[in-house]
Amino acid sequence: MPKLVTVAVPCPLRRGFDYLWPETLGLEAEIGLRVSIPFGRQQLVGVVIARDAVSDIPSNKLKAVLSVLDEHPCLPPNLVQLGRWAADYYHHPVGDCFQQMLPVALRKASPPKDKPAQYWRLSADWEQLPEIASRAHQQLSLLAVIRQAGQLSRRQIKDLGYSNAVLNTLINNGYLQQADAPVTPQPPSGNTELALNSEQQLAVSAISNSLGQFARYLLDGVTGSGKTEVYLRSITECLARGEQVLTLIPEIGLTPQTLERFESRFPGQVRALHSGLSDGERYRSWQDIRSGRAQILLGTRSAVFTPFQKLGLVIVDEEHDASYKQQDGWRYSARDIAVKRAADHNCPVVLGSATPSLDSLHNVGQDRYQLLELRERAGVASKPDIRLLDIRQQNLDEGLSNTLLDAAHDTLQAGNQVLIFLNRRGFSPLLQCHGCGWVANCQACDAKMTAHFGRRELRCHHCDAREALPSICPQCHNSQLIFQGPGTERLELSLKRHFPDVDVIRIDRDTTSAKGSMQSLVDGIRDGRPSILVGTQMLAKGHHFPDVTLVGIIDIDGGLFSADFRAPERSGQLLVQVAGRAGRADKPGRVYIQTHCPDHPALLALVSEGYQPFAQQLLAERQLLSLPPVSFSAVIRADASSLRCAEDFLAAIRAELAPGDTRWSIVGPLPAPMTRKAGRFRAALILQAERRPILHRQLAIACHTGDRLPKHKSLRWSVDVDPIDLF
Ligand code: ADP
Ligand code: ZN
Ligand code: ZN
Repeated sequence: MPKLVTVAVPCPLRRGFDYLWPETLGLEAEIGLRVSIPFGRQQLVGVVIARDAVSDIPSNKLKAVLSVLDEHPCLPPNLVQLGRWAADYYHHPVGDCFQQMLPVALRKASPPKDKPAQYWRLSADWEQLPEIASRAHQQLSLLAVIRQAGQLSRRQIKDLGYSNAVLNTLINNGYLQQADAPVTPQPPSGNTELALNSEQQLAVSAISNSLGQFARYLLDGVTGSGKTEVYLRSITECLARGEQVLTLIPEIGLTPQTLERFESRFPGQVRALHSGLSDGERYRSWQDIRSGRAQILLGTRSAVFTPFQKLGLVIVDEEHDASYKQQDGWRYSARDIAVKRAADHNCPVVLGSATPSLDSLHNVGQDRYQLLELRERAGVASKPDIRLLDIRQQNLDEGLSNTLLDAAHDTLQAGNQVLIFLNRRGFSPLLQCHGCGWVANCQACDAKMTAHFGRRELRCHHCDAREALPSICPQCHNSQLIFQGPGTERLELSLKRHFPDVDVIRIDRDTTSAKGSMQSLVDGIRDGRPSILVGTQMLAKGHHFPDVTLVGIIDIDGGLFSADFRAPERSGQLLVQVAGRAGRADKPGRVYIQTHCPDHPALLALVSEGYQPFAQQLLAERQLLSLPPVSFSAVIRADASSLRCAEDFLAAIRAELAPGDTRWSIVGPLPAPMTRKAGRFRAALILQAERRPILHRQLAIACHTGDRLPKHKSLRWSVDVDPIDLF
């Protein structure tokens, strides 16, 4: 009997493929090995996911594995199991799942180049060399930077904005010589003496006592309540048992400060894994964790697939954060997979947040998760005072009410900082003609163009279309064009006008697109001078601004009235997260929320009672309507060059499914609220069921049908299990 293996092949088909395992390979067929295989006319890299397969295809028709790319399996059996489970659960092609589970460096057949970083410092005799011409600004500036830093790697130099050519000129002219990698200074691993408060103590002992067994915790504590301290202590306990730790953080939460805090507590034992690293750097972190050379992995979404020698604790910080859910292709939730991994490894998992997701709160209600609460802020910081500002019939100056402006004035006078939050970048979300009512719409989307004043552009924030800002109405040639409503750019200008003597710093995607610019803006704020920060949700995460004592929230109403039932949850979380930036340290903070609906029950609950009662109220509504997380849902989306085409495809899938009953329901095909996006028409089928197995049975039929249906060439479709957006 010839030996067969099943291989996950990176292709869009929802199954593994069987291959012969020839004796000539000279290696045992093992699960988790990467192999090179023929596929159609291509040669691809796949992962062995089963051996001793029995194929219904006669073996003389089967192709053979060409070569084995690893000496030892690059994924351990538990991860191969997890990958197969996740492919089934998310109804996604197994080959693509395995492809994404591997670091980029391992997705190709050629062995990854594991080049150590090259460091450069000033050469011993650089002062004896002829002076660099004063017009060679770049060379002079780089020389000064390296002199100050001691030594820098090629990559760091590149990140600072210097070209390779400048660096090479300095090297070739003898100004620089190779240096050893800098020794990470071993900061005093202090802080450990910090006396935990009683709630922290309780949390740490609960987690520590369950090391070695599967247990799920929700650590619920406001920003600054000392959650990170709880993580760090629990990690210490885990390391003492000789086990490793997986810590997930949202992309934007992985700031240099977070990394420093972990590294200074556990020198040399931490590895990072995030999109800011090169493929080589990511591969090295992955290797160090897999081999056990390092104990703690601090990473974003895809880090959840890293192999560990001996995983003993899983932590998911800011568990409510939407960035844990991949939003295209394989739509997995890293938070949910993290819980599954903890179960596989028989270890505790801690989900932490100041604003827990309704999913996790529901799990607490069902006694699946244990709740650990940190009600007080650690140290001396006190709770901010939150107030609703009724702006109905108020005179607004470019969106700012007088009450808010007065409060900002007082705050700055007292030497403190102000944060103004508006989740809308650009100058104005709507450009309109006063003469004929013309509105600047996007040609490709059912959406308005946003005006960007500084760049003199109209931009669509959905498809990125750009046009020059018109000076007269294209329809009636009237020159009275009005900007309706503010964006962050407009607020910045308006605040500069009101407060000409203080720095106004804007933080949004437009001002932080260059690498490192976010950090330098944040550093500017953290030096404490009276200043005003204005920005989008980028301000809500990761960074703490100890001198901000007033937070103004300009427009929260949009989130209260969205077509998606999850919108109020998200608005509430955002609001609390933004409010949490204020009054760290020992300065009490104030939060003013401008609204046209001061009587909105959920908003009132949030402001007067806090996030927990607000969330419980939303959860009760979901219960009443049997919406997730009380029930389970999936969305099948399709988009095409015409709405008809997308809807017909979904209708054909629906026709194959059982008619809904009391245990499950199906809605659609429905056009998405913004039906046309980037020139494509979008529609969805929404499935909802009392229990998961019912949902998955229907999804399996839907995928089977969808794969086989004849399709218009413009049609694309996808399945989203446990979606976080309806459309
Ligand atoms: P979170 O992660 O919930 O935002 P942190 O763990 O970062 O909170 O703690 C907030 C601040 O309070 C940090 O500066 C931290 O060093 C400090 N802190 C945490 N726990 C204590 C404690 N028990 N006593 C004094 N200060 C503490
Ligand atoms: Zn006009
Ligand atoms: Zn558009």
